[in-house]
Formats: sequence, C-alpha cells, structure tokens
Amino acid sequence: MPHDNPLIALLVVGLGLAFILGTIANRLRTSLLVGYLMAGVVVGPFTPGFAADQALALQLAEVGVILLMFGVGLHFSVKDLMAVRAIAIPGAILQMAASILLGEGLGWLMGLSAGGGLVLGCALSIASTVVLMRGLQERRLVDSDAGRIAIGWLVIQDLVTVLILVLLPIIGPILGHSGAAHMGLRAILLMVGETLAKVAAFVLVMLLIGRRLIPALLHFIAHTGSRELFRLAVLAVALGVAFFAAELFGVSFALGAFVAGMVLSESQLSLRAAEETLPLRDAFAVLFFISVGMLFDPRVIVHEPLKLLGVLLVVLIGTPGVAFLLLRLFKRSWATSLTIAFGLAQIGEFSFILAGLGIGLGLVDHDVRDLILGAAILSIIINPLLFYLLKRYRPWIERRDGILPAAAVEPDAPVVMSRTELTQHAVLIGYGRVGRRVADGLRADGWPLLVIEAGEGTARGLEDSDVAVMTGNAANPAVLAAANIAGAKLVVVAIPDIFEAGQIVDQARTANPDVRIIARAHFDAEVPHLTRLGANLVVMGEEEIARSMLAQTEALTVRA
Ligand code: AMP
Repeated sequence: MPHDNPLIALLVVGLGLAFILGTIANRLRTSLLVGYLMAGVVVGPFTPGFAADQALALQLAEVGVILLMFGVGLHFSVKDLMAVRAIAIPGAILQMAASILLGEGLGWLMGLSAGGGLVLGCALSIASTVVLMRGLQERRLVDSDAGRIAIGWLVIQDLVTVLILVLLPIIGPILGHSGAAHMGLRAILLMVGETLAKVAAFVLVMLLIGRRLIPALLHFIAHTGSRELFRLAVLAVALGVAFFAAELFGVSFALGAFVAGMVLSESQLSLRAAEETLPLRDAFAVLFFISVGMLFDPRVIVHEPLKLLGVLLVVLIGTPGVAFLLLRLFKRSWATSLTIAFGLAQIGEFSFILAGLGIGLGLVDHDVRDLILGAAILSIIINPLLFYLLKRYRPWIERRDGILPAAAVEPDAPVVMSRTELTQHAVLIGYGRVGRRVADGLRADGWPLLVIEAGEGTARGLEDSDVAVMTGNAANPAVLAAANIAGAKLVVVAIPDIFEAGQIVDQARTANPDVRIIARAHFDAEVPHLTRLGANLVVMGEEEIARSMLAQTEALTVRA
C-alpha cells in the first residue's frame, strides 16, 4: 500500500520510473536528466495516477545536494577558492544584481508589486548547484579553469542566497504596496551583520577545529581497517556538518557540506572518502531531479505561455549574457566565459525555496511560483543543449581566442574535434596509473602514439613531448573518429570502467576490423565481455598482480 509506506513508495516508483524514462532518454540521445524530470512529473500531484509524497521527495533531494557538495568540496582546497576570489566575488555579486533587476523589470511588466518583482528576480538570479555540478562533472571540467571559477561563483551565490533568505522578510514588505512596518536602515544592517558573522563563525570553527578533528577522526577509523566503518564515518561527517551548519549557524546545507569536504580535501584520505560517497551521491542526485519534476504543474505552459517565455529568457539569455560580459571584462577567454555562462543558464533548488518564502510573505502568489518552477524544469532540460552548441562551435570559439585548430575538422561529426593526421599509430585510451606506464613503453618502442584522456590537466605532462594528446571521453564516437581508429594499428584501452571500455572496444572494432585491441579488466566476467565486443587481448589487473606475486614466491621455493 503506497500510502502506508510513502518513503518506500517514492523510492520504488520514483527510481523505477527514472530508470525506465532515463533509458528511453538515453536511447533518444537526449540528456538523462530529461528522463528523471519526466519521472518526477509522472509521480507528481499534477498528473493522474500515483502521487508520491512531495515533502519527502524534497528532503531526499536535500540529501543529494549535501552529498554532491561534499564531493565538490573534497576536490577543492581553500587555496583553490582563494585563487578565484578576485573574479568569483565581484562576478557573482554583479551578475546576481543584474539578474534581480531583470526580474524586477519583468515583474513590473507582469503587474507584480516591487516586492513580488524582487522575489522573482532573486529566484532567477541563482543557478542550481546540482545542475551546474553535474554538468561540470559529466564534461570532466571540475578541475579546469572554468570549473574552478564556476564553483567559486556558486559558493558566492550560495552565500548571497543565505543573506537574501534572511533579508527578504524585512525588505519585501517595505517594497510591497502594503506599506507594512518599516524597518530602519540600522536594523537591516544589523541583520546583515549578524548573518555574515554567523557564516564567518562557521567557517572559522571549521578551519580551526574541523580541519584538525575531521581528518584525525577519519584516520583513526581508517586504521581500524573496517571499510564499512570508514564509509559510515564519511557519511556521518558530511551529513552531520551540513546539518549543524544549518541548525547552529544558519548556513545552507549545501554550503555546510562544501566546507566539510574542503576541510578534508587536504588530507590523503579525501580520495577514498570521495569514492565512498559516489554511489549514494548518484542515487540521491536522481531523487533531486525527481523532486523537481514533482513540483512542476504542466498546465502553466498552456495557461501562461508568454510570461513563462519571459521568465525563461531571463534565465537562458539574461543571466548568462551578463555573466559572459563580466567574465570577458575580467579577461577570461571566450571558451572559459561561455562555459561558465552556460553553466549558470538554469535555475533550481534555491529558486524554489525563495518562491516558497515569497508566497509565505504574501509577496507573490502561486502563479509566480509555477512560472519559476516551469522555467526551472525547462532550463534544466535546455542546459545540455547549450553545452552541445559550445562543443559544436568550439573551433569558431577557439579562433576568437586565438587558438588555431591543428588540422581539418571532420565535417559530419556530431562533436567537432581536430582530426589527427597519424596513421598506423597506437591509440592509448586513459593516461592514469596504467596508461602512463603503457605510454612510456610504447614510446620507447618507437610507436607513433596518440593518447585520449578524459581529465583535463591529467595529460598535461605530455604536452611538451612528441606524443599527440586529445582531451575527451573516448566512448564518444566523434572522439574516436578524430583519433583515426580506422587507420590505427593498435588500440590500448587502459581505463578501469567496464561500461565505457566496452563501448570503446565495440566502436573501435566496428571502425577497424584489423586493428589489434588490448583492453583492461578487473573482474573475471569482464574478460569474456570485452572479448565478445572485439578485444584481441584482455588483461585482468588482479590476475597479473597475483601472477607477479607468485613469481616472487616461486623464486623463494626454488632456493629453499
Ligand atoms: P587509472 O585507473 O589510474 O589508470 O586512471 C584511468 C585514467 O583513464 C584516468 O586518468 C581517467 O581520466 C581516464 N579515463 C577514464 N575514462 C575515460 C574515457 N572514457 N576516455 C578517456 N579517458 C578516460
């Protein structure tokens, strides 16, 4: 009975539908997010049939935000944050101010009060952390220049939002036509001061105490040797710090979790901690998108198309336009500026919270919230398209930046990439712990070598050598085409992920029936899987380790 077990019903129906619609979205070659959002619309209260518990969905989504931001923090050090402050602080504040003004203007056109316009403007000025971070992670941009600025920008937006949430109940009624109790400037400044002081106190506590205590705790647990306890400890720290940050210091969950992660990022354990939270993070991120879909009332598209379009234009053109101009003013390249601007061209969780607050204060009614939700869901769906355009027109953008594409561009490729001129070469996929060693060997043997590596910066060590490098996901057909697999002699797939490795082997075999393909595996079942897809040789890491170990013991036995 769904109504007796609302949590189980939500998880089963929501995740089940997200899986089915996500698969369909994948088949249709659109973003998985579209599938998840649609699953939310289906289990939401505005469509017939089963309606899941909305309040529960929102809380679960919040857990997703916490884990996501904790993971982001783990990859981000205080130093990284300081390095981008000169651009992130003024950039985010000016962009938010401009977006709020645009929202006020739109609100005026729609006949809202000044207070109502302020709610609308604030809601439209803040990007969704989850959507932006997922976008960066999917494109492996987290460690890039654009990624670091975008994360710094997000942190500032988040801080300003905390301030807005505190100040809206005071400023809103003053702007509203109700002429409600005026509050003196002094009192407003006091509130701002108090909020900022609380945020500062939280950061200070984390830097002075958390920075020592949390890594020490995890080290202690790591030494117990129990993986289960370690996993639990990481979760307890991430959720615990986020919760107490919110309860004691009035900081958002997201910011609390981010700082918890950042404090840990200086410790050796951070990588392990990140891995432990990955599966949970992904599952909860899906729940986040389901919860957004649930809030959406599709009727708004029919009832208020013009207003919806106006709101959408602010999100899709206004905010990114302003961000782009500001970034160019800060002398960032076209490519970096466009990446960040497009990343900000969407709204999500904070906007819903603001809309809810606006309704509570009587500044806006439900129509405005529906518009904000409509714009959120549509902008989240459109966002991947913007990134697609960015890829499609990359050569044009790079020309603006003065970077000339190395060679002619494959005309029909869905993703434009400079095509290599190498033939009879070796293509090495993945330049990590395994790939690096393979690359050294192949170079020593005199192979003409092309490396495909997904992580920006990972292959940086190769830049000055004679080895050609392509940055991108090798599972993408356009990347493989640009590597001229059809003309290659050897393909070495040195990545650990079996799904991506399978896709790569399959595509490489189709493109070139004669090429020798050597692939990497970690489990017994992966060997026949990759062989079936066309690998000539699959090297099972664990087997090779065991073999080498045994070789050592044999030497001892002979001597004994
Ligand atoms: P390791 O497990 O240390 O050998 O690292 C694997 C390397 O492969 C990392 O540097 C990843 O960034 C890279 N990698 C993983 N998946 C892909 C992919 N689909 N395309 C290209 N590089 C990848």
